[in-house]
Amino acid sequence: MKTQHLPWKEFSRYLEVPEQGLNFLKEAKELASEKGFFLYLAGGPVRDALLKRASRDLDLVLEGNWEVLLPELLAKTKGELLFKSQFLTYKLRLPQGFTIDLVTARRETYTGVASLPIVEPADHKADILRRDFTINALIYGLTLPFEEEVVDLVSGLKDLSEGKICPLHRDSFIEDPTRAFRGVRYKVRLSFNYAGDFYLALERAKEVEAFEKLSPPRLAQELKLFFSKEPLENLFKLIEDSDALNLFELSLLKKRALKSSDIDILGLAIKELKPKDREKFFLLFLIELEEKSLARLGFFPPEREKILKVYKIFTKEYLENLDILERVEAFEKLPSYVLLRLALEENLRHTIMEFWNTLRHIKPHLSGHDLKALGVEEGKKVGLILREIRRRKLKGEIKTLKEEKELVKALLFRDF
Ligand code: ATP
Ligand code: MG
Repeated sequence: MKTQHLPWKEFSRYLEVPEQGLNFLKEAKELASEKGFFLYLAGGPVRDALLKRASRDLDLVLEGNWEVLLPELLAKTKGELLFKSQFLTYKLRLPQGFTIDLVTARRETYTGVASLPIVEPADHKADILRRDFTINALIYGLTLPFEEEVVDLVSGLKDLSEGKICPLHRDSFIEDPTRAFRGVRYKVRLSFNYAGDFYLALERAKEVEAFEKLSPPRLAQELKLFFSKEPLENLFKLIEDSDALNLFELSLLKKRALKSSDIDILGLAIKELKPKDREKFFLLFLIELEEKSLARLGFFPPEREKILKVYKIFTKEYLENLDILERVEAFEKLPSYVLLRLALEENLRHTIMEFWNTLRHIKPHLSGHDLKALGVEEGKKVGLILREIRRRKLKGEIKTLKEEKELVKALLFRDF
């Protein structure tokens, strides 16, 4: 074991955490010291402080029982307990909205390939050894016995200085294949390299088909982090690097061939889709539209069927042969994340973008209510006239409210 003194003043320079977060750490530290518990930060913030990079989330770990500290800690910091998980982690919200995760030092025992571990409270050593990479297995003590010390059990400091992504042991990716994708993220984000053991761990995981055994929700969750946790400009590199390691194929995903113009549509999705739809778009962005890949990423059968059906029907010719209103209505029926995914197909891009950027916003000024006031009898005819107004507007034949009203008059006595 190696330790390295690092004054709190220097360490905390890289924590981009609001005042209340830092204050929380101070109170937690005092209470833990009183009770004789070892409190430390682990993973990201320690790695990042040593690299002199800013970090935002805190991985605060207690070798001890949080329940003993919580009543006083919540009272002192005016925090609110949001939830408690079966893995002895707690999520708190501090005043002004800052949330913080509290973790109990724990041991993880893996019983099957790519399955979730058995978790039990343990000491800091076991808690270090459950982690993914040596650079993420460094801890920084906030209390005795390692106050203001970086504790290194697994050559994390050496790997950090050499820029290496090294798993803690060679069965690491058998236990949890998502770690390989995590490794790609750190490699790209930090411009590091894989250690020899990374490749060895990958080979072992391949031998037991660990990636195939990874459950769809876990695979999907991990892949979404390419989009949500990493800067957008790294995305293509993340995908290329995963592909170079064959991670998609091993996970039974058919990766889509990317082109630079995809970024524009991704930008639209990020800006305009609701969070849940955005996440689905991210997943669809990665893959070819085919049954197996959709299933691997957790799309349920009815959704898969719907996506594959429109993908098959919507050829360029089919869409061009539709009347403009029919085309707009066909697009409007689709969930927006499916539509934007289809826009990534070269032959559909132009038609869908025309809809997305302009056509979908073209609607009649007149409402059904207005039509009735203009003398249209209640019933089917209202809808038909509204559609006709929209069709003519889409074609650019009419524009103004006056023209709409004239059209209504002309259509008033027509049979539909
Ligand atoms: P980031 O800057 O992306 O937040 P991080 O290192 O803080 O990086 P988190 O995903 O926040 O990563 O996880 C916190 C810590 O938990 C990691 O540093 C690592 O020690 C551990 N960890 C997370 N996921 C895994 C995993 N799948 N297997 C083992 N350890 C993990
Ligand atoms: Mg983190």
